[in-house]
Amino acid sequence: MPESSILTPQQRLVRAGQSEGNEAAAKSIVGPEASPHDPVLSGPALRGASWQAELREAVRDPSELCRRLGLPASLAAGAGDAAAGFPVFVPPAYLARIAPGDPRDPLLRQVLPVAAEGEPVAGFGADPVGDEVARQQPGLLQKYSGRALLVTTGACAVHCRYCFRRHFPYEESPHADAAWEPALAAIAADVTLHEVILSGGDPLMLVDPRLTRLTKRIAAIPHVSRLRVHTRLPIMVPARVTDELLAWLAGGRLSPVVVIHANHVNEIDDAVVAALDRLRRAGVVLLNQSVLLAGVNDSVDALCDLSERLVTAGVTPYYLHQLDRVAGAAHFEVPEDHGRAIIDDMQRRLPGYMVPRYVREVAGAASKMPIA
Ligand code: SF4
Repeated sequence: MPESSILTPQQRLVRAGQSEGNEAAAKSIVGPEASPHDPVLSGPALRGASWQAELREAVRDPSELCRRLGLPASLAAGAGDAAAGFPVFVPPAYLARIAPGDPRDPLLRQVLPVAAEGEPVAGFGADPVGDEVARQQPGLLQKYSGRALLVTTGACAVHCRYCFRRHFPYEESPHADAAWEPALAAIAADVTLHEVILSGGDPLMLVDPRLTRLTKRIAAIPHVSRLRVHTRLPIMVPARVTDELLAWLAGGRLSPVVVIHANHVNEIDDAVVAALDRLRRAGVVLLNQSVLLAGVNDSVDALCDLSERLVTAGVTPYYLHQLDRVAGAAHFEVPEDHGRAIIDDMQRRLPGYMVPRYVREVAGAASKMPIA
C-alpha cells in the first residue's frame, strides 16, 4: 500500500502544507491562527468558535471511544492497524447519539475501526470510483455531463470507516486560493458546465472567508448556475450552520443545493433538524444520500425510519448507494439482491418521493447506474 494511502485526511493535508513549505493549507481549514501540525484541534483562533471548538473535542482514539461508551476494551483492541492507518475521529455531538454499552449500535459501527479493515479482499481497491482518471486539473474532477467537482479539502468532521476516498491523494489538490486558478479556468472554458460541486473530504471544514472567496469566483462564471455542497458537517456538528455559512451559501447568484450524508435515523437529532431548518429557510435545496451498510441500515425498517425523519426535516431522500468497493470496507458490503428487496419493500410502505434511488457508481460510466 503506498504511503499516501495510509494517511488520514488531516495527515494528508498537513503533509501537503509542509511539502509546500508554508502553513496556508492548514490555516485555510479552520482559521488564520490554526496550527499546521494539527489544523482541526489546535490554535488559539479556535477558542470561542463553537463548531471549531467541538472539533477540538473529537475522540481520536479507539480505547477512549470505548471507554466513553462503557464498552469493553477488547473492542478497541480489534482496531489495531486499521486505526493506525485511518484513525478514529468522532465529534462530541455525534458521540452523544451513540447508545452507551451497545457494541452493535449503528452509529458506532460507522466510526469504530475493526480488524477486518486490514484484510485484503478481491475486488476492493484504493480508487473504486475512478477518481484518478476523472481528474482534469489539480482538485478538479469531471465524470458526468454538465457538472464539475472540486476536491476542496482532505479534512472531515468524522472518519467514516466505509469512506470511498480513504485512500485519495489529497496532497495533490489545491491548498491555497491561487492554486485553484487552473481548475477555475477549466470550468470557465467549458460552457456546458452548469453546476459546480464542492466535495472533499468535507468542504464545510474550510473557514467561511475561504469558501466565500471560492464561491465568488465560481459565481463569476456566467454559465454556472448551481452550487452543490456535499457535506456531513450539519449532522456531525450542527453548530457549523452559522449565519456566515448561510450568507456565502445562499446569499449569492448561484442556486444552492446541499447534500447531507445521513445513513441512519439516529444521526438526525433535534439539533440536526434545527440546523437543516436554517438551511432550508435560507433557500437551500436539501437532499440526502446514504450508503447501504451491513449492520447499520440494511433493513427496510431502518431505511423507512430514515426517510420519514429526513422528509419531516425537509430533506429529500435522493440516493441509496451500493457500497463503493474501497479497500478496508468489504465488511460493510450488502448483496445487491438484498438491497433490491429492501427498496421493493420501501416502495410498498412509503410514498414514491420518500424512496431513494438505489444506485452504484461505476468508474468511467456516464451516470450513476440504477440497481432497482
Ligand atoms: S465525511 Fe465523507 S469524505 Fe469524510 S470520511 Fe466520511 S465519507 Fe469520507
